[in-house]
Amino acid sequence: MEVPIVISGGGIIGNYISLRLEKNNIKTVIVEKASGFLALDKGIRTVTLNEHSMQMLKNIGICPSIAQINSIDVLDGEGTGKIQFLAKDVGSENLSYVTYFNELQKLISDPCKERTFFNNEINSVQNLNTESDPEIMLKDGMIIKTNLIAGCDGRNSNIAKIASLTSSFDDYLQTALTFVVDINNNSHGKAHQVFSEKGIFALMPLPEGRGEMNKCTVVWSIKNQVLGDEPVSEFVKNNISFFESKLNVSLKVKSEILSFKLSNHHFENYISGPVVLLGDAAHSIHPLAGQGINLGFADADVFCEEVISSYKKGIAFNEKSVLKRYEIRRKSMNFLMLKSMDFFVDLFGSENLYLRLIRNLGISSLNKSKFVKAFFIRHASGMNKF
Ligand SMILES: Cc1cc2nc3c(=O)[nH]c(=O)nc-3n(C[C@H](O)[C@H](O)[C@H](O)COP(=O)(O)OP(=O)(O)OC[C@H]3O[C@@H](n4cnc5c(N)ncnc54)[C@H](O)[C@@H]3O)c2cc1C
Repeated sequence: MEVPIVISGGGIIGNYISLRLEKNNIKTVIVEKASGFLALDKGIRTVTLNEHSMQMLKNIGICPSIAQINSIDVLDGEGTGKIQFLAKDVGSENLSYVTYFNELQKLISDPCKERTFFNNEINSVQNLNTESDPEIMLKDGMIIKTNLIAGCDGRNSNIAKIASLTSSFDDYLQTALTFVVDINNNSHGKAHQVFSEKGIFALMPLPEGRGEMNKCTVVWSIKNQVLGDEPVSEFVKNNISFFESKLNVSLKVKSEILSFKLSNHHFENYISGPVVLLGDAAHSIHPLAGQGINLGFADADVFCEEVISSYKKGIAFNEKSVLKRYEIRRKSMNFLMLKSMDFFVDLFGSENLYLRLIRNLGISSLNKSKFVKAFFIRHASGMNKF
């Protein structure tokens, strides 16, 4: 078989790339390790999309159910600091959108099913470091001749290993819990985040299509030493009241509690010969600002722009300058976001009294500066494109 672009990994980013390139007459196939059936998480896991990612989805005709967020209150749970981000501060209607992970994954992968090899993976690649086109051997023995391999196979990327790319890795020694709650006082369009010694607690509205009027989603990151050996359900039962009183709401857990160990990684190089890394294959960050998938969408956008432009000019996709432009445009932006998340994790994870004081004073004065807040919002919205 011969196809210009092979995508390793049929997650949201891999499928997005396939849909956009095919719309521009560039043929792709997807190699996906899983069987194709989504693990049923009963609508618990959500992702927060920024304005740029939403726009990208709309442009390829994908419209998941969403809850709009037009204001975010960020509180220091141990002090008095509070900062409020409002969409109207930047002249927008919304800051971000919450959608169900599984729904988005299904909507975006269904149209790509016919060109996806499920239950499969890339075993080896011939001609990785030569001028000739690469030849891929899949686990089932199939051989594919191609120009370019897009690595969208998530954390622990298999194709990154085959291409001998290396990354930094940092274990946050934290666990994220995510679950659905009933809320007594659902102020539509509002999200809340509390930074405290009991963890970083984010409360966001859910899309209303499934009768979720009084339901919210929680993403709660906790230091492993604070979580201890207690079962997560007991930890939640014993500690959620702290956030209820901080936010002046009453919350009832209404779903299973999913948990994820938290770490970050970032590759020194995103390209090696004809292999390019995108999304979680290239980088992962702390979920505190809900930016993980948005960085992946921004990668996919720039990658598709470069590939489509070289197609129109008749330049080979694996031409070094094409891939290098993608890497230059995305690597520094992703690294900046990763380091910003680490700064907040360290600042709010600190028990040092002086740091706490600076934190409270800093947050309160930041809250008064419309200019600085607008800068943060624009950066997080993904509209500041390089
Ligand atoms: C608790 C938690 C909450 C989060 N919340 C948010 C949020 O609110 N907002 C946000 O933007 N992000 C969030 N994220 C991050 C977000 O989920 C990821 O950034 C996003 O899913 C990455 O998409 P991806 O397509 O790059 O990778 P993945 O979703 O990891 O997809 C990779 C795909 O590759 C496949 N694969 C794996 N190995 C192979 C192989 N060897 N060969 C072929 N295929 C393979 C996998 O089966 C999968 O289908 C959160 C993450 C966590 C852990």
